[in-house]
Amino acid sequence: MSYADFYQQSIQQPEAFWDREASLIDWHKPYTKVLDASRPPFAKWFVDGETNLCYNAVDRWLATQADKPALIAISTETNSEKTYSFADLHREVQRMAASMSALGVKQGDRVLIYMPMVAEAAFAMLACARIGAVHSVVFGGFASKSLATRIDDAKPVLIISADAGMRGGKAVPYKPLLDEAINLAEFKPAKVLIINRGLEAMKLVAGRDVDYASLRALHLDAQVPVTWLESNAMSYVLYTSGTTGKPKGVQRDVGGYAVALASSMKQIFCGNPGETYFATSDIGWVVGHSYIVYGPLIAGMATIMYEGTPIRPDAGIWWSIVEKYKVTRMFSAPTAIRVLKKHPAELMKNYDLSSLKALYLAGEPLDETTSSWISNELGVPIIDNYWQTETGWPIMSVARGVENTATRLGSPGIAMYGYNISIINEANGLECAPNEKGVVAIKGPLPPGCMQTVYGDDQRFVQTYWSNFAHDQLYSTFDWGIKDADGYYFILGRTDDVINVAGHRLGTREIEESISSHAQVSEVAVVGVEDKLKGQVAVAFVILRNPDLATTADSKRALEVEVMAVVDKQLGAVARPSRVHFVTMLPKTRSGKLLRRSIQAICEGRDAGDLTTIEDPTSLQQIMAALAQ
Ligand code: ATP
Ligand code: MG
Repeated sequence: MSYADFYQQSIQQPEAFWDREASLIDWHKPYTKVLDASRPPFAKWFVDGETNLCYNAVDRWLATQADKPALIAISTETNSEKTYSFADLHREVQRMAASMSALGVKQGDRVLIYMPMVAEAAFAMLACARIGAVHSVVFGGFASKSLATRIDDAKPVLIISADAGMRGGKAVPYKPLLDEAINLAEFKPAKVLIINRGLEAMKLVAGRDVDYASLRALHLDAQVPVTWLESNAMSYVLYTSGTTGKPKGVQRDVGGYAVALASSMKQIFCGNPGETYFATSDIGWVVGHSYIVYGPLIAGMATIMYEGTPIRPDAGIWWSIVEKYKVTRMFSAPTAIRVLKKHPAELMKNYDLSSLKALYLAGEPLDETTSSWISNELGVPIIDNYWQTETGWPIMSVARGVENTATRLGSPGIAMYGYNISIINEANGLECAPNEKGVVAIKGPLPPGCMQTVYGDDQRFVQTYWSNFAHDQLYSTFDWGIKDADGYYFILGRTDDVINVAGHRLGTREIEESISSHAQVSEVAVVGVEDKLKGQVAVAFVILRNPDLATTADSKRALEVEVMAVVDKQLGAVARPSRVHFVTMLPKTRSGKLLRRSIQAICEGRDAGDLTTIEDPTSLQQIMAALAQ
């Protein structure tokens, strides 16, 4: 079948199409209806069907490949490497599941996972899936305040964490941050389960904190049966960075997600049982959920969990892993490739990369220089793919499992099956002509695997995503894009304000809120400014309560350091602005909205754009003057 026909069927006859894809996973009880779209924009896939993510990822491979590698945990930080077969993984997941049950976790309960990239984090996710608990993984780089807001939203009965992670050879403590977050949060979890890696001394809170090694020892032979879940039961909540300051909890189902992953692993990532998949992301992000933990395992592949940087001990480390484990498919982000590009390419040449079939990149725009460079170095196709936490799997890419569609430099590809993409002119709500810029929207119902709702807030789901255009069955991605005459899309940035620092997505609002908590700050604007290495960095413009405090270079520098320290403490170092400038006025519209895009343009040396609604143009001169200093 040609991809064009494959795609058309997914749009014209979604039920027949997804009924076929659904046979890629095992069902305990067949579904009675493929799609229930009777209450738009909510969509229910595979209604009444019963299945389980953990069963499909682990148990179903025991019959054919129990002794084949399933999870390969590599840490270049602790110099450890351990391979778990599917049988080993099955045992570890049951030990974790039994331990969680012993701590009172029941079906439907939330379990928050705040962990470094260690095997136990994957065990914990799979154990939740096994017993029908809902996991919420919070990125380990987030500091106490971010963690606290997520604790309050998810209300977890149990938090699983570790003494520390490690980065660049230094221990990064987790436990003290977690303790502080629990203090800050209104909601208090009953239990905290700690993986003690022996990296950092820590204090356990009596009655609340439990050491995993001791608990696991009581459950070595645990047999924990799979809890069969209706397809539309909740599998997990994962928070986006959030432009409103309050993060959106993306809630996902069980059956639709399992089908979407099994299908995308076959049609887009071309993974086969027995092969090895290496995604360099983190379990705290959606790529970690879909393509480190669940996707590869559901496809019967071995998956690599990597703790470390791309350049330690040297920039050849990832390629040595590809050689050693005969990785066939690799998934990374443009920012990581830009880091590698700074190092001698010979490091790559030292390794036999003949197993590698393709490198997939996602998360931010892939510039042509980076793409061409890595393509030449590796000699394999570089496949850009565009998607969101909300969708869980690619919206745009090429589906080489269906047809050998060509890629195009600068484009993340064509519409993936199941996604009825429309580029919408924001002014009139109509579909754009080819090459005309508009908002990337998707006609509902969304395909399987996409978010069910905003956790605990259906109204926010409808209002945020489905109320941006006159046509109420259109999901907004909040990204600008164009489609060319051949159906290739190009992403032109986002309609909201989020910055991406070395692959970490941060809401400018969140950083602004953090800076505002400094006693001297009266107002602040944060923008993301293009950075060759990190993709973007945050730059802050601050209005002080008392402008006299920052009149000399020394006093400015001292305050700048203080502001940076506030962000470090509350959000983590990734959110720290690279510069803090002091002004007495910020560019705003007459309705009082910050003109972030204009500030950003000036910072990047571009034209400030349409200023018809600006309240006072001299505010822009202040920005320029501050930058010139
Ligand atoms: P929030 O929704 O809280 O603002 P976020 O959008 O930054 O957070 P993600 O869901 O991880 O968090 O990121 C998805 C966004 O990343 C897309 O909407 C798009 O802006 C960008 N993106 C992802 N992949 C690509 C790609 N291949 N090319 C261009 N942009 C991409
Ligand atoms: Mg987003």
